[in-house]
Amino acid sequence: MMRALILLAALFAVPAHAQFNFNLNRAIESVKSLGRAMQDIDEKQEIEIGRDMAARLLGAAPLVNDAKLQRYVNSVGRWLASQTERPDLPWQFGVLDTPGLNAFAVPGGTIFVTRGLLERMRSEAELAAVLAHEISHVLKKHHLKAIQKSAQASLAGDALSAAMKSSNPEVRGKLVSFGTEMYARGLDKSDELEADRQGIIIAARAGYDSYGLPAVLQTLQAMNPQDSGLALMFKTHPAPAERLDALGEKMQPTLDAHSDQPQLAERFRSFRGSK
Ligand SMILES: [Zn+2]
Repeated sequence: MMRALILLAALFAVPAHAQFNFNLNRAIESVKSLGRAMQDIDEKQEIEIGRDMAARLLGAAPLVNDAKLQRYVNSVGRWLASQTERPDLPWQFGVLDTPGLNAFAVPGGTIFVTRGLLERMRSEAELAAVLAHEISHVLKKHHLKAIQKSAQASLAGDALSAAMKSSNPEVRGKLVSFGTEMYARGLDKSDELEADRQGIIIAARAGYDSYGLPAVLQTLQAMNPQDSGLALMFKTHPAPAERLDALGEKMQPTLDAHSDQPQLAERFRSFRGSK
């Protein structure tokens, strides 16, 4: 009960920053820093790279035009992020206006869930589960490491700086695409399963029913796999059955220990609208 009260209080104390101010022009600079072979990317660079990736993703699908909904999703996400070891990243959460079912994280703490996935959810615990999975990708720097690997594999340091000086827009465009192509290809399966496990812990710590993620995975599993809205999700993530099995194997005690925490189905419906 105490947890639930803290959860409620925290949600409505969070300031509403649903604005996304991204600078597309910085994309080239960011990709340049990606390619610096053998050099670690610091947190400031991580955030800048993420902003440019987010701008690319927003270019592909705009945010849902519903300020109340965006504020709500942002509040749930920030409350979850405040429970993690990187609470001070500039966390931002938004709903993309696209019918496909998916969620994305970019380095530095920007996270999107699609309208299509939100429409299939039944409670705030399910929303929290999906956001916590994405938060885990940021915490573990899964995308950042994949971008780094891809840039380094494709271009050695000298070749990269030569490409950067090129005025050929095709060459530059190719560099910028290193980061975004990863969202079509997906991460390693081990990264996805790790994000599932870590996400369960974050959502439970934040006070939610720990069965939110299994519930979302069951929804996906029950859908027709030929559904066009599932294509990208299924291409970039292990099959729902495999993810459920992995959770059952490794996370059963954690799931059971927090299964009586709130789901907040009514509050979720009041913000999303009944569908
Ligand atoms: Zn994932």
